[in-house]
Amino acid sequence: MKIAVIGTGYVGLVSAACFAGWGHEVVGADKDARKIAALRRGELPIYEPGLDRLVDEAVAQKRLSFTTDLSIAVAGADIVLLAVGTPPRLRDGEADLAFVYAAAREVAGLIDRFTVVVTKSTVPVGTGDEIERLMTRARPDASFAVASNPEFLREGSAIGDFQRPDRVVIGANDSRARELLQALYAPLREQNVPILATDRRTAELIKYASNAFLAVKISYINEMADLCESVGADVREVALGMGLDHRIGAGFLNAGPGYGGSCFPKDTLALLRTSQDHAVPMRIVQESLAVNDARKRRMALKVIDALDGRAEGASVAILGLTFKPETDDMREAPSIPLIEALQRAGARIRAHDPEGIENARAVLDDVEFFDDPYECAAGADAAVLITDWKSLKALDLGRLGHGMRRRVLVDFRHAFDPAEAERHGFALTAIGRPSEK
Ligand code: NAD
Repeated sequence: MKIAVIGTGYVGLVSAACFAGWGHEVVGADKDARKIAALRRGELPIYEPGLDRLVDEAVAQKRLSFTTDLSIAVAGADIVLLAVGTPPRLRDGEADLAFVYAAAREVAGLIDRFTVVVTKSTVPVGTGDEIERLMTRARPDASFAVASNPEFLREGSAIGDFQRPDRVVIGANDSRARELLQALYAPLREQNVPILATDRRTAELIKYASNAFLAVKISYINEMADLCESVGADVREVALGMGLDHRIGAGFLNAGPGYGGSCFPKDTLALLRTSQDHAVPMRIVQESLAVNDARKRRMALKVIDALDGRAEGASVAILGLTFKPETDDMREAPSIPLIEALQRAGARIRAHDPEGIENARAVLDDVEFFDDPYECAAGADAAVLITDWKSLKALDLGRLGHGMRRRVLVDFRHAFDPAEAERHGFALTAIGRPSEK
């Protein structure tokens, strides 16, 4: 099958490389000429484990190519996947569909045979209807169907998630579109991955319903962590005890500094806007959003408490900046509000991240960055672990503490063993258990 993927960001590039790996002929198109130039040079514009090898192989086998020219990508394509961004609109938090509609309009002018135009981007219910309307207006003569195929991959484990997903959701109101999408995912059907074929609106909603549910689960365990701190219980054991119950499941029960990233904050907000537009209150989602926002802001107070209330003039080493490990993505990372709040309180910030420094520079002011975590902590009054990269969880606490002015450690990810921290003379503050200070 010939496939065009419009947008070569985290989702588009991974999808394009994986589809090519299954033997399809794929062209990835992006408006960002710098991204395409990098891809053509054999360089990845993003960090995602294993993606470089997959892209290299597909390009070498001539199954994957890149262009800035949508007409090259769309010519002869059976399926056009829209994988452009849908960021939150500044004025109201609704999903900004400008990129999706612009791409769909352009695609409408280019299709030359029956083509299935598929939203892989996360789009609110009814977007497929609107794409169908605008494409019909732009090209009344064209033969096409619009379908929804939401993506559930996670940055950092995107390839495994794409190649071995829990399920694939296909939303199509047109039988030819449904059959083409079933054929696209045939390798997964052979592996017995459930492929849920449903109507377009239902598919669009499944994505939001799933992400909002996970966001609620995180906020739930985060509030439980606060209660644990007050009553002297340990949230990790509470989560373990809850997660062993199959009805609950162990995933997404890690208490932390609040969720971030390019999906949960924007998708929960967009779902809320949809619910408001339809006058259907979703109070649980609304509260979980508020809980998360407040939490992200409040986390700086934990660091200030650990510094005995004196942030003014203190030097704080932040370990891990990206919204999760194994990605360079800084979108909505909890590190950002935490660092800004510490700066407002008068602290000086030094920071390290294995992959995120370049993107962090673009969103953080007055931060000194270090490639080496030990150099980052040298002379600091406190070290704060925000993102649980493997390399940071494996830090030698003796060496870390050796260079620090004060041995104060704030662990937002349960990365360090309290006994080990104590052995190295650290006063440890962690989430969801009584402070070891
Ligand atoms: P991204 O910002 O990394 O990439 C989007 C790309 O689209 C950019 O490279 C941009 O230049 C390109 N683009 C925009 N308009 C274009 C146009 N008209 N023609 C060609 N290219 C265009 O975004 P992402 O993280 O890959 O997310 C894409 C979508 O997938 C979003 O809707 C997101 O919610 C959804 N999603 C993301 C993830 C994730 O983990 N990142 C997971 C599941 C779903």
